[in-house]
Amino acid sequence: MSDEKRTEISDLGEFGLIEKINESARAELTTTIKGIGDDASVHDAGDKYILISTDLLIEGVHFDLAYMPIQHLGFKAIAVNISDIVAMNGTPKQMTVSLALSNRFSAEAVQVFYEGVKAACEKYNVDLVGGDTTASPSGLMISVTAMGECDKEKIVYRSGAKENDILCVSGDFGGALVGLQVLEREKQEFLANPEMQPKLDDYEYIVGRQLRPQARLDIVHELAQVGVVPTSMIDVSDGLTSDLFHICKQSDVGFSIYEDKLPIDKQTFETAAEFSMDPNACALNGGEDYELAFTVKQEDFDKIEKFEDISSIGYMHSKEKGRVLVTSGNQIIELEAKGWKHF
Ligand code: ADP
Ligand code: MG
Repeated sequence: MSDEKRTEISDLGEFGLIEKINESARAELTTTIKGIGDDASVHDAGDKYILISTDLLIEGVHFDLAYMPIQHLGFKAIAVNISDIVAMNGTPKQMTVSLALSNRFSAEAVQVFYEGVKAACEKYNVDLVGGDTTASPSGLMISVTAMGECDKEKIVYRSGAKENDILCVSGDFGGALVGLQVLEREKQEFLANPEMQPKLDDYEYIVGRQLRPQARLDIVHELAQVGVVPTSMIDVSDGLTSDLFHICKQSDVGFSIYEDKLPIDKQTFETAAEFSMDPNACALNGGEDYELAFTVKQEDFDKIEKFEDISSIGYMHSKEKGRVLVTSGNQIIELEAKGWKHF
């Protein structure tokens, strides 16, 4: 390899790198229905599909223990994986959790972490069935794998969106990013003056969005209740725009979303202003909301309209019409994926 040219991973980007990995991935078994490229892989298990998804959480990259209580971290590690199973319209069933721990961590700290894991397992009705434990030269690394299942006729990929489908989302957006700004500010104030108590009372909702995100399993249940199977779905972990781009790329469509339809919580809105951030930009580009974005056929939309936590934000159209935001002033703006970048 030494004579060959060196490509920086940051030039390729996370998704470019995954595409390269995919080129050498084997997916030959007839039971491998979907390999790399969606929120979870899909496997034929006879009368059902089995879903598998895995995530890695690294201290200093994904979380900062200066403001992340370790119990919440345990909860979040499970919730974000369940979110990927949910994004396939599946039901999570079993989890494995693996830890690499530096000697900074005590057995008690690990126990508290697992209290959070247990709380999430109870909330989402999943079992913790294994994992691995090892030493780390520095910091904490957490690897979680979630397994779930889905009725074959209910599976939803990123690739099924069609022109004229209605684009829907669950919950609200931007809260986790603005919550993170609050936590960062309090951390800096604490570092400057360790006597100070954090002032988080006015920011409870958005801080909770950052520290203890929820997987939207309730939305999968609601969809099932009214017999609606979305045409495509993704969970929004990197940012609404950049995750919608995955749907566009895999479904070969474009979309229009309306600025005044973006669901933004009042606390997100007001706190964004406090940080001189544009709340709409926070909703479009902020990561870690772990809400669902999905498309439904027009005729299915009135069946789900009644659900309070589902809103329509736009519609899908041809790729040629682009991926655009229609502003409150009726301007059409071509969107860019400015979401979370790991490299
Ligand atoms: P998500 O944000 O939903 O967790 P990712 O963007 O992490 O999804 O991953 C996209 C797809 O790429 C998934 O199908 C995932 O399994 C796959 N993937 C990511 N990293 C690797 C890797 N190192 N090897 C094989 N597949 C990978
Ligand atoms: Mg995902």
